[in-house]
Amino acid sequence: DEDAQREALLDAIENVAARLATEKSHLTELDSAIGDADHGANMDRGFAAVVEEVEGVDDASVAEITKTVGVTLVSTVGGASGPLYGGSIMSASGELEEGITAETAVAFAEAYLEKVQDRGDAQVGAKTMVDALTPAVHTFKKSIEQDDLDPLEALAKAVDAAERGARFTTPIRAKKGRASYLGWRSVGHRDPGATSTLFILETLLATAED
Ligand code: ADP
Ligand code: MG
Ligand code: MG
Repeated sequence: DEDAQREALLDAIENVAARLATEKSHLTELDSAIGDADHGANMDRGFAAVVEEVEGVDDASVAEITKTVGVTLVSTVGGASGPLYGGSIMSASGELEEGITAETAVAFAEAYLEKVQDRGDAQVGAKTMVDALTPAVHTFKKSIEQDDLDPLEALAKAVDAAERGARFTTPIRAKKGRASYLGWRSVGHRDPGATSTLFILETLLATAED
């Protein structure tokens, strides 16, 4: 029911914030190789603010809470990733107005990916978060709609796809974002945003599994 979904969502948010706090120096290290060494701090600051913002929401719907996550990330993360993560979560949140089901989760994931691509104009292979996100969303949708897996199994498949996508950012050259200024020198480094996307998906899966 509505209360259980809200609790599950709030747990997921807390777990994501905790994971990103743990990974702060890891993500910053990745960003120091091909960017400006702030991605870990950006994500940690953003999700810490989100946890404060959603604390004590007693009767907000999952769509409203999700929208608050996006709004808060937009105003606290900054950089390239703030509007991409925050703005896209904000606009995809409308897909959860009927609550969280396999169907609305797919709609949310697709709307989120579409917004990230609209805003960032990055294709797969540009060495960005899109490289982890795109295979994850496509795998999630296919697992539910064609393979008839339950949402938890579908999310596990999506995490595997994101893992491969994030790994694939290492050998390629950046075509978008700060890392693209390095041209060929960006080769051999894993993309920070693809990695944070993977961490978030892994944490959503771990939360859903318990
Ligand atoms: P900034 O680069 O402004 O310091 P962050 O360090 O927080 O911002 O985020 C960098 C990440 O943002 C990159 O690793 C990449 O995954 C993602 N990114 C940057 N530009 C784009 C874009 N145009 N489309 C998609 N993702 C992007
Ligand atoms: Mg940066
Ligand atoms: Mg920056």
